[in-house]
Amino acid sequence: MGRMTAPTPRRVLLAAPRGYCAGVDRAVIAVEKALEQYGSPVYVRHEIVHNKYVVQTLEKKGAIFVEETAEVPEGSIVMFSAHGVAPTVHEEAAERKLATIDATCPLVTKVHKEAVRFAQDDFDILLIGHEGHEEVIGTSGEAPDHITLVDGPEDVRNVEVRDPSRVVWLSQTTLSVDETMETVGALKEKFPLLISPPSDDICYATQNRQIAVKQMGADADLVIVVGSKNSSNSVRLVEVALGAGAGDSHLVDSADEIEEAWLDGVSTVGVTSGASVPEVLVDGVLAWLSERGFEDVEIVKAAEESIVFSLPKELRRDLRAEAAALSAE
Ligand code: SF4
Repeated sequence: MGRMTAPTPRRVLLAAPRGYCAGVDRAVIAVEKALEQYGSPVYVRHEIVHNKYVVQTLEKKGAIFVEETAEVPEGSIVMFSAHGVAPTVHEEAAERKLATIDATCPLVTKVHKEAVRFAQDDFDILLIGHEGHEEVIGTSGEAPDHITLVDGPEDVRNVEVRDPSRVVWLSQTTLSVDETMETVGALKEKFPLLISPPSDDICYATQNRQIAVKQMGADADLVIVVGSKNSSNSVRLVEVALGAGAGDSHLVDSADEIEEAWLDGVSTVGVTSGASVPEVLVDGVLAWLSERGFEDVEIVKAAEESIVFSLPKELRRDLRAEAAALSAE
């Protein structure tokens, strides 16, 4: 049993940036706009972003989430999630005469393009990422014969390539920066001529959220990360918080998952949220903490973010066409 009363003063360190990234914001707005434009149902292949609350809210508005395009009735509208899809999924959709809207984050598309280019140049591509994650499945599908998945530093010993002088590493966008660098270090020891990607594959949003959590980690007795269990970047934030010295860290979908016992003996609580988490859920956590005496909130700012992505092109085209029709009336 720990102490039953928390020492004073009690304070909250609130990470900035946190929550929605540009890719998630765009994907969620795309589903909402598609529902307005075409009416319900709009089918969405896989969770549009990895957040339970977002998915449930969009379901209520008329989105239908499916696992595979085969579940979508012929001739319907289907949206692809922010995590991206393999080219075979586009082909299946075309066969079923589905109207597609591709909400793949442009920063994931960038990695797809790198994979295509290096495969065309006949490189072996070592894709650092988590086995089974949708993004990794999509990226691997761009060049299945050239890509080998490397799931963390321990996996490096299993990696084999055809020609060690033509090898490049790429990565999933939502990994831990530090762990990825560890994996790259191990790969470079094994393949000294390994080439790095032309620019960072781990996206700006993932990096910034990790930097903010690192800044607060050592000062926090507890770090609460708001995010869903299947959200890669949110899970990484818990690991980064603990690695940075936080006394404890937990991932919660919302305030009702927080356990009172976590506050036992705690005076400083860090709060952050993954890139797919709406701010309303963070507000709920702050309100929960405030009710327990954690009213003093200090912002820990790691970066300014101003990136905004335009809506998927198929949607922009139809929205423009409608605007033109209305103005012609
Ligand atoms: S986490 Fe990064 S790659 Fe993923 S949707 Fe957001 S901006 Fe895009």
